[in-house]
Amino acid sequence: MSAVASDPCVDYEAVIGLEVHAELKTKTKMFCGCRNEFGAKPNTNVCPVCLGLPGALPVTNRKAIELAVRFGAAVDAKIGRAVFHRKNYFYPDMPKDFQITQYDEPINAGGKVEILDAGALHTIHLTRAHLEEDTGKSQHQGVSGRIHDATSTLIDYNRAGVPLLEIVSEPDIRTPDQAKQYVNELRAVLGFLDISDVKMEEGSMRVDANVSVRPVGAEAFGVKVEVKNMNSVRSLVRALTYEIERQTVVYREGGRIVQETRHWEEEDGRTHSMRSKEEAADYRYFPEPDLVPITLDQAWIEAISAEVPGVFPSRRAVQLAEQYGFDLDRVASVVYTPGLCDWVEAEIAIGADPLRSLNWASQEVMAHLNETGGEVAGLALSKGVFADLSSLIDDGTLSKKLAREVLTEVLVSGKSPRTVVSEKGLAQISDESELERIVAEVIGANPETIEKIRAGNKKVVGFLVGQVMKATKGAANPEAVHRLIDSRL
Ligand SMILES: [Zn+2]
Repeated sequence: MSAVASDPCVDYEAVIGLEVHAELKTKTKMFCGCRNEFGAKPNTNVCPVCLGLPGALPVTNRKAIELAVRFGAAVDAKIGRAVFHRKNYFYPDMPKDFQITQYDEPINAGGKVEILDAGALHTIHLTRAHLEEDTGKSQHQGVSGRIHDATSTLIDYNRAGVPLLEIVSEPDIRTPDQAKQYVNELRAVLGFLDISDVKMEEGSMRVDANVSVRPVGAEAFGVKVEVKNMNSVRSLVRALTYEIERQTVVYREGGRIVQETRHWEEEDGRTHSMRSKEEAADYRYFPEPDLVPITLDQAWIEAISAEVPGVFPSRRAVQLAEQYGFDLDRVASVVYTPGLCDWVEAEIAIGADPLRSLNWASQEVMAHLNETGGEVAGLALSKGVFADLSSLIDDGTLSKKLAREVLTEVLVSGKSPRTVVSEKGLAQISDESELERIVAEVIGANPETIEKIRAGNKKVVGFLVGQVMKATKGAANPEAVHRLIDSRL
């Protein structure tokens, strides 16, 4: 590859595969009865099993298997047996000196995830989604909190043994943006299906990337580098962008890439070499002798699959965009928020205007959720909010602008749109005599504009309408204002 690669005229493309680790939403850990809980006092959720004390025996968590099957059903994976292996390595955060994971028989093999890419659906294939246990957490004591200048390290084993689903994609991703869409899609699916909390900031969802670059058109992959330590989708995009550029420059200058693990540093915006990458053989995988392979009952798998909604947010966005003529980007902002799309569709079903509902959801509702940090499920709203607002616009009570104000108030207070309108006296001025008086005032105050209109410049009528809207604080019906101005000139 390097012979072609040092040619400065060659264009490069990235080949990216992602490994997403999602902590499963179980009450207890993967192989013991300790609570699976974030934020507890260090080393309080531990027992002989997850501390790896001699003689302690693991027992598989049924719920973890159920959640893994739920995911497999959603992504159309081949769901197999639950066979566990030991992955052997020495590191202080893994007290047993091995991690129980899955090796050649993952519970979910294959599968696919659809993402939005340049306004269309694009398929990313999955290699596997297997079950394993999480490690403990090291806390390096020192100025920077990092290992290189630490004076000592404390270890919290509360996380050791927490069930993880490791979702491995095929190297189907080509750009940082596709990686972002893929993670958004997975996060939504895992969240909607109640499989994981998917909080990247708290570490309940973690993403590692395998990145290589190759000349455009080449079949063979370049040497791949594993990048770790991205704790938000934003850092994932930054890290990938940096790493792709770094590798491209190395090749352009005739250098070679070494297979290694690199650490993303948020502060300096670079990846740093951590260690050379282990090969699978280094881990001496062997079947976990303390756990029997579990063959899953086909009827049980089917029962779980039957409850899994088959629609991905990306596919739903495309369907809604086609059905109602929505702008795809705007629908996309709605489908990734749990419950929001269901709400919009339910309102449309009872008569709400589709486009207005979508706009309200993607603007006022999203703004409210971002501001309060709340969720759709937590909004105390009665059914029919969008439908009511739509009819208040249709019957001339509210302008579109006032409807948005009413909605903002509805979201805060939980009152119905009609209650807000009457309490705040927000109804649009439809009383013609009142409007006529204001129109006359505005016309009287703008003789130069009137001259221009009489001289044939119709565009400036908009200015007069704006003045009337201003005088009424947006409470006038713009169509009525237009009509009244026309009739006077
Ligand atoms: Zn335990």
